[in-house]
Amino acid sequence: MKRSVGFFLSLLVCTSLNAQDFDGYIVKLKPGKSLDMKSLSNAKEISTSFGQFVKFEGNEKSISALKSNDAVEYVEPNYIYTVDNTLDSMKAVSDPKFAEQWGLKNTGKNSGGWWTPGKKGEDINAERAWQVTKGSKDVIVAVIDTGIDWRHPDLKNNLWVNEAELNGEEGVDDDGNGVIDDIHGADFANDDGDPMDGHGHGTHCAGVIGASHDRTGIAGVMANVKLMGIKFLTDSGSGSTADAIEAVNYAIKMGAHVMSNSWGGGGKSEALKEAIVAANDQGITFVAAAGNSRSDNDAKETYPANYRVDNVISVGAMDGNGNKASFSNYGKKMVHVFAPGVNILSTVKNGGYQKMSGTSMACPHVSGIVGLLISNNANLNPVDIRDRLMGTAVENSSLNNYTASGRTDAHRALTNTRN
Ligand code: CA
Repeated sequence: MKRSVGFFLSLLVCTSLNAQDFDGYIVKLKPGKSLDMKSLSNAKEISTSFGQFVKFEGNEKSISALKSNDAVEYVEPNYIYTVDNTLDSMKAVSDPKFAEQWGLKNTGKNSGGWWTPGKKGEDINAERAWQVTKGSKDVIVAVIDTGIDWRHPDLKNNLWVNEAELNGEEGVDDDGNGVIDDIHGADFANDDGDPMDGHGHGTHCAGVIGASHDRTGIAGVMANVKLMGIKFLTDSGSGSTADAIEAVNYAIKMGAHVMSNSWGGGGKSEALKEAIVAANDQGITFVAAAGNSRSDNDAKETYPANYRVDNVISVGAMDGNGNKASFSNYGKKMVHVFAPGVNILSTVKNGGYQKMSGTSMACPHVSGIVGLLISNNANLNPVDIRDRLMGTAVENSSLNNYTASGRTDAHRALTNTRN
């Protein structure tokens, strides 16, 4: 069964849809139990550190039979998550440079719209933060998205490298992790070891976090980092719960410290929540875009941003004046911080650069700041990190009604100060 609606996180003008979008079902098996796979249509087993799952096609009748099967813990829809790729503000930029990255350094002249100037200083305070740390090659940030263009000149020196596969045999799972030739990450949309981005969205997020500081192109929030490309959204920008839990499971297994998640949609999934809890148990922070539906996340649940797990940081988007972006979701309780998310310049596929808008762009700013915090102090756990970000955020009267804290500030977070 397939229904084709969803809601999008990288849209400038976003549409919220009520119908739910899913592709078959996911069953979670009780420990030590198994199912007769032949009884299920198009069944696929998924083994994770947080349990055994089976994805399959089904109908109401087969679902109700499974619910009473004593091997089954639960059955739920395999939700579809999406980003959008028809954004008309995705303008190609021919001469990219740091001076255009208002999210890192807002001069008041690089952050305005067509009619209004931006506001100087409404940024993440990156330059002051870089006096404390520019990141570390010991920190792995997993970009769980449409993949990463790992050939991009501005990213290739900051990629996570699976040495066993790099130095291993082609076509062989050298490190025995279940994925063949996963050198820079993996692709759970197509079930292979190549997370090359055929969309652009994941590469954009990766550049915000960790584009090289090398006098060309743009600068990432982190100059030094290992970016792990984990593709579960296809080249058209959609993916399902089954692929998302494989993505999270891989990032846990391969030692990520931070997961950056600029996507959403669907209803509440126990399987995805369990994946996030498993990440939390390993001390991994899960940063999530708050959503682009202009809606109140305190009143209307938005996933994965609203999963109430200690490691989830929900990020709203602000514009160059420090105001809530018109499209951004908000929530005085459920949106932890705001970050720049309008006309953000970053890397895209085929070695390019583009501006994009969305909470999709705000999320990786925070993922990068979390990476800086861990670079500076490896002992911080996800609760410390979220508390630090919220406790040091800049209070801003125009954001007061929209978030539990304010605009995130990398320097304040690193120094645990409020100035
Ligand atoms: Ca492998």
